[in-house]
Amino acid sequence: MKEFKAESKRLMELMINSIYTNKEIFLREIISNASDAIDKLHYRSLTDKNIKINKDEFAIIIKADKKARTLTISDNGIGMSKEELETNLGTIAKSGSFDFKEQNKKKENIDIIGQFGVGFYSAFMVASKVEVISKAYNNDEAYSWTSTGIEGYNIKKCNKDNYGSDIILTIKDGEDYNCYLEDYEIKNLIKKYSDYITYPIKMEVTEDKETKLQVINSLVPLWKRNKKEISEDEYNTFYSDKFFDYEKPLSHMHIKAEGTLEYNSLIYIPSHASYDYYSKDYEKGLQLYSNGVLVMEKCADLIPDYFSFVKGVVDSADLSLNISREMLQQNRVLKTIANNIEKHIKNELISMLNDRRDDYLKFWDAFGLQIKAGIYNSYGMDKEKLQDLLMFYSSKEDKQVTLKEYLESNKNEDAIYYACGSSIEQIKTLPQVEALISKDKDILLCANYLDEFVFKVMEKYEDKEFKNICSESIDLDTEEEKEELKALNENSKDLLALMKEELDVLDIKFTNRLKNHPVCLSTTGNISVEMEKVMNAMPTNEAINAQKVLEINSHHPITKKLQVLYKNDKEELKKYSKVLYAQARLIEGLPIDNPTEITNLICEIMGK
Ligand code: ADP
Repeated sequence: MKEFKAESKRLMELMINSIYTNKEIFLREIISNASDAIDKLHYRSLTDKNIKINKDEFAIIIKADKKARTLTISDNGIGMSKEELETNLGTIAKSGSFDFKEQNKKKENIDIIGQFGVGFYSAFMVASKVEVISKAYNNDEAYSWTSTGIEGYNIKKCNKDNYGSDIILTIKDGEDYNCYLEDYEIKNLIKKYSDYITYPIKMEVTEDKETKLQVINSLVPLWKRNKKEISEDEYNTFYSDKFFDYEKPLSHMHIKAEGTLEYNSLIYIPSHASYDYYSKDYEKGLQLYSNGVLVMEKCADLIPDYFSFVKGVVDSADLSLNISREMLQQNRVLKTIANNIEKHIKNELISMLNDRRDDYLKFWDAFGLQIKAGIYNSYGMDKEKLQDLLMFYSSKEDKQVTLKEYLESNKNEDAIYYACGSSIEQIKTLPQVEALISKDKDILLCANYLDEFVFKVMEKYEDKEFKNICSESIDLDTEEEKEELKALNENSKDLLALMKEELDVLDIKFTNRLKNHPVCLSTTGNISVEMEKVMNAMPTNEAINAQKVLEINSHHPITKKLQVLYKNDKEELKKYSKVLYAQARLIEGLPIDNPTEITNLICEIMGK
């Protein structure tokens, strides 16, 4: 007896003790493996002239034997050699899918099954013993693989006439499991989960004392069927079965292109990001079929990165089966299909945005970052395509709005105003923002690190520029107020110069733009404080420094105090400067270099 690899053992344990309520999905998994095995042989026969096979003979046959308590699923697919039995069934093939978490064992049980489809091992949810008898195509020898659980498995030579595999499950004892030996129940399961399988799934039926094989599934894949005859439920079931996502998708698009280029496609927009979506492991792509034969599991060239979240299939008779991955990239047919699909996705998102706002917000929540990254990564080149999908939080509306909506409700503004920070709540409390909100300005509150970079590469939307209100001063003053401020700054030149000596800032000035706060930090030049934070968080050696300006509220009592100190106690003024600058940095979420010095200074001032 051989032992399972550690990961397999754990999955197996999970399956044997499964409390999962949908045990019935085991049949879908086994049928789907059988279908894959036939796909592989089918594909080989079409691309290798030496293999001669009658494709009408391809079939999956299911038999239940109540007396022996066995359920047998047979296929005439590619089969497995001794080595393949060992590697494919002794270890988890797609171990990458399994991110076992030690905590939360019960929940994990459900999640794994729900999210990934666990494949072959799910048989152990219903079977006390599993036997696989397999003969690889073109091999003379057949082998059997047997296991009754975690202890391990045995592989032995055996007899089998034809190539392909028989999976023989000995169904567990007990009321709960008897149904998996009933023909009508098995038929229901085939209809429910495996109807779209493109090879006939056959079962024995006895009519007039004659036993015949009857085809249970409808064979025509969903994407080839008439749209009018497909229910919402069928679309959704297909999605969850094929892409292992048990949350309903937000949208589906059934594209049937006719004319110079013919193809059928079924595209889904998921309602949430999969656990690995924003990781390096995520592979984008659509399943590619050539006239019903699977050519590629994930054809990446069919969708652009910014729409990498969609799932779906494309089937075209105009694509040759022999095409290699490298050739695909330059294939004109594929390029045209990809362009069409991209337009469909864009239109679907726009119509969701206009007609189903709640769904769109869900979409935005899950995949908005990908759209923003699309604009940023293309240095703005994809801006035209994507800009109308963007949403940002409007301070005035108190909700997410599109840029178009922002312009419509702020027709008299000459720019699009925004402010950045770590959360909507935090941004609202920034001194500059608070002051402008109190004057009824509409500001886009940007809590995502990419937002400002997106604005920078976009430069403008329609003909309006983006303005960071924390970098650029926004002119709301009357002429009189402006004059007054100018005079104050000019008269305080020496005072400000002395303060500046102590600090690492480009400039210090008095301002009118603050409401209650004594100070704020603004920037000049291309780099804002938020950008400095993001860029410094990246793994480079170079420290980025925004050119900072310390602004002091001219209406705040502190201004008077500074003037008095300048006259009477210049040393004290220097201390005040340091404390005020530290305050401004803290408000912006920037670190202070010398916390001990600052806290001591504060206490010293308080103690007076
Ligand atoms: P997955 O199908 O997701 O790769 P499974 O655990 O279901 O994972 O199956 C593991 C592997 O065993 C498959 O990838 C396939 O190579 C092989 N396999 C399973 N069932 C069959 C079958 N009926 N015929 C040929 N190979 C099979």
